[in-house]
Amino acid sequence: MKIAIASGKGGTGKTTVAVNFALALEDVQLFDCDVEEPNCNLFLGFDLEPVEEVTCLVPEINPDWCTLCKNCASFCKYNALAALPNKILSFPSLCHGCGGCRHVCPAESIEEKPRPIGMIEKTSSKNSLTFFRGILDIGEVMATPVIRALQRHIDESRPVILDSPPGTACPALAVMGCADYCVLVTESTPFGFHDFLLALEATRALKVPAGVVLNRDGIGDSRVEDFCRAEGIPILLRIPDERMIARLYSEGIPFIKEMPEWKEKFKNILKTINTVTCKSKGV
Ligand code: SF4
Ligand code: SF4
Repeated sequence: MKIAIASGKGGTGKTTVAVNFALALEDVQLFDCDVEEPNCNLFLGFDLEPVEEVTCLVPEINPDWCTLCKNCASFCKYNALAALPNKILSFPSLCHGCGGCRHVCPAESIEEKPRPIGMIEKTSSKNSLTFFRGILDIGEVMATPVIRALQRHIDESRPVILDSPPGTACPALAVMGCADYCVLVTESTPFGFHDFLLALEATRALKVPAGVVLNRDGIGDSRVEDFCRAEGIPILLRIPDERMIARLYSEGIPFIKEMPEWKEKFKNILKTINTVTCKSKGV
């Protein structure tokens, strides 16, 4: 079972939920897929070791064979190639590694070379929580290949928690789309509701079932709850707007560690998800 923890916007408590949920379960894997801002380990404090360098294939043009036909520059929709009168300029940081320019080159003067864009790391010691994270190098824009590389380390025989990037752009969709279930973390405020609807729409387009964790429950109004009731979307957990939880968060401590009564509540999320997904499959 792969469970993505997602949200329509940043700052809703998504990482807090992912970390506490993972700590509550036994023999689980946690993947920090928010590769532009991988914050899970700020709470976990694990020693990590590199396991894989992530690269993107970028074109390298052989000027001796290039006939300056400009096909490659016209083809590239990412402006990673520019045709000057006497040469083709390439901008590797803009390249999405689609390989199209190589295919349209009539002179076979384009080779592809790997360019590092990020890193995969994992916990160096063995414990019941196996943690992986992807890191996109500073200045790079291609988050999705790092997420895909991270996902190749998933052990399908164990429960998996995926901390998704926020929002509904390609990196978030890459995480939600590979999950069996999405937990959408939101707050019941006008902005929270708006972004929650965007995230829910994404899960529906991807045909991934979803439930809700209401963070800072008690602030705002009942619009998320009313909507979920009307649409039959389960509220999996409510995390109240409590001083103790806020303090632990600000100190980088997963609140489940100091408030063990929450362990069972997080475990119940998995039970509810298992029940919901079994029912939908008619098991
Ligand atoms: S590989 Fe694709 S994105 Fe990169 S330069 Fe070639 S056409 Fe452009
Ligand atoms: S498509 Fe090939 S031959 Fe034409 S400009 Fe590009 S590299 Fe040169």
